Amino acid sequence: MAKIGFIGLGHMGLPMAINLVKAGHEVQGFDLQAKALAEFKEAGGFPIKGLSGFDKRGCMITMLQTGEQVKKVCIEKKLFQQMQAGALFIDCSSIDVPTTQFIQAEAKKLSLQIVDAPVSGGVAGASAASLTFMVGGEEEAFSEAKKILETMGKKVIHAGQGGSGQAAKICNNMILGVTMIAVSEAFLLADKLGLSAQKLHEVVSNSSGQCWVMNSYVPVPDVLPNVPANNQFKPGFTAAMMLKDLNLSQSSAKSVGLETSMAAKAALLYQHFVDKGHAEVDFSGIRLVD
Ligand code: NAD
Repeated sequence: MAKIGFIGLGHMGLPMAINLVKAGHEVQGFDLQAKALAEFKEAGGFPIKGLSGFDKRGCMITMLQTGEQVKKVCIEKKLFQQMQAGALFIDCSSIDVPTTQFIQAEAKKLSLQIVDAPVSGGVAGASAASLTFMVGGEEEAFSEAKKILETMGKKVIHAGQGGSGQAAKICNNMILGVTMIAVSEAFLLADKLGLSAQKLHEVVSNSSGQCWVMNSYVPVPDVLPNVPANNQFKPGFTAAMMLKDLNLSQSSAKSVGLETSMAAKAALLYQHFVDKGHAEVDFSGIRLVD
């Protein structure tokens, strides 16, 4: 069993780290929130007080919000310098490609193995160990990472060289943001036309409009179990995080001179939603929360 250090025990990181514990790994964990550390300890993990407490020999995993946070932990706080040469670093956060490539270059200077491995599947997938991992990095590092990632997910895909995992995630969430708005507006229209939410779901989830939002993450209450809409849109995946990802799609598109008009509009709508004070509302509240 491996020695693993896990940084970022939030909505996603905590259930992911707990699945590593359940699989019998020796898992150290760190987060800025005392509550997260307490829950991690209760589940059998070893909380530590600061980055210097991690075992140097272990594999390190980060599940943070942004590229700035990952850079801060790895470079400014010198996590990489503490790790033993040859050790594996896996970043599961959803961040931009240039920051990922910068971090990977810094890791390689210290002879670390490194992959970017963002995830899809949400908190439910993190809890059920059924995430999809999209991984960027060299073959050898991918093979090492796969053994660990399989404990937390059902599908581990080698997307290509360093940064390819993030490229895949950015494209995936561009689709997710756009479809969340489209599906939400379909529910609003159905209601005005006198069609129940249950019937719309039954029809579309078996028709050509089906998609992950309609089939698994319906944004109206009491159609599917265990979705944020049933719980006053408590996240889940916050609107702020979706806005971050849509903005990543726009900066990526701009960097290659591409116009992505639907995602540009979705980014504007999420920006308005966040500006209205809904940053911490689940992203599925976009058209249903005033
Ligand atoms: P979160 O805010 O719930 O968790 C991030 C955690 O990192 C927090 O607990 C925070 O305290 C901690 N943190 C921040 N800076 C730190 C530091 N310097 N040292 C230690 N801990 C620090 O976010 P989340 O929803 O778990 O998302 C994490 C990443 O996963 C994001 O990039 C997000 O886009 C992505 N993601 C989220 C979901 C989802 O459904 N929530 C799904 C797929 C991908």
